Amino acid sequence: MAETTTAQPSSAQPRSVAFLGLGNMGHPMAGHLAAAGHRVTVYNRTTAKAEAWVAQHGGRMAASPAEAARGAELLFLCVGNDDDMRAVAGAAMEGLESGAVIADHSTVSAEASREMDAAARARGLHFLDAPVSGGQAGAEKGVLTVMVGGDPGAFEGARPLMECYSRSVTHMGPAGSGQLTKMVNQICAVGVIQGLAEGLAFARKAGLDAHRVVEVISKGAAQSWQMDNRAGTMLEGRFDFGFAVDWMRKDLGIVLDEARRNGAALPVTALIDQFYADLQKMGGNRLDTSSLIKRLVD
Ligand code: NAP
Repeated sequence: MAETTTAQPSSAQPRSVAFLGLGNMGHPMAGHLAAAGHRVTVYNRTTAKAEAWVAQHGGRMAASPAEAARGAELLFLCVGNDDDMRAVAGAAMEGLESGAVIADHSTVSAEASREMDAAARARGLHFLDAPVSGGQAGAEKGVLTVMVGGDPGAFEGARPLMECYSRSVTHMGPAGSGQLTKMVNQICAVGVIQGLAEGLAFARKAGLDAHRVVEVISKGAAQSWQMDNRAGTMLEGRFDFGFAVDWMRKDLGIVLDEARRNGAALPVTALIDQFYADLQKMGGNRLDTSSLIKRLVD
């Protein structure tokens, strides 16, 4: 196995970085790195998105993950599922020099993250699983929450860069721990969304003014981020706030697989996964996750 060394970039010094995957999340995240003065090379499978990013932020555009990786001290990616992450991170490894750090912001399985961690170590690289919470709005405003697994030294090196687009960046433990933490986040989030959907649907059936109900109960123990930010839009039938039903089903698939392995009982999460499957059957694939209420109201 090759010797590994740890990169230690500081926030003050401009670093050479690469960002792969300029979707709803990656585009603004990479933009914050450029705005902080770092030398950013971007790659996106659909070239037009990389061209648009360079036109907006400057920097360089590469034709492949390996080309983007060449000369990068830190390489970030934010793509789709396990297979996408394996393909993009694996190809990027070809271009990185020993000691470089890969930070993966995609939401994928802990298993795939541990696999990539081992592949990285075998090449003298570091791999951090670093999923995020906060949605597209959080990425645009630079206030994401990042939960990270992997080598602590590599984490300390990457942390100042991740802080360019985050309000909280925390090391959770060895490889896979960031993804396991994100799974807990998703378990908690969907339970609250379904509870809120049921409460609002009940308020309507009961003949109450649901907006007034929310005004009142949001000052008590039922208050939540979902209630503060989504109750109003759920009542108005607006479901275009980013994180989509298809993505949530990917995440819940990862969560339920992990629970089968570790023996955790997730009866409510499993049920809500089926409710999201209902929404897909209703054509709601791209609606945001608060659309659970559509199953309950006309
Ligand atoms: P998105 O808008 O659909 O963008 C996905 C990006 O990944 C695109 O740049 C896409 O390239 C690229 N990609 C996907 N598969 C690829 C492959 N096999 N090879 C090369 N490039 C590939 O998704 P997003 O909303 O940014 O989400 C990205 C990740 O962050 C996902 O894992 C998601 O679960 C997670 N996440 C999203 C949110 C959110 O609110 N959106 C919040 C937290 C976490 P093309 O442009 O060519 O399609």
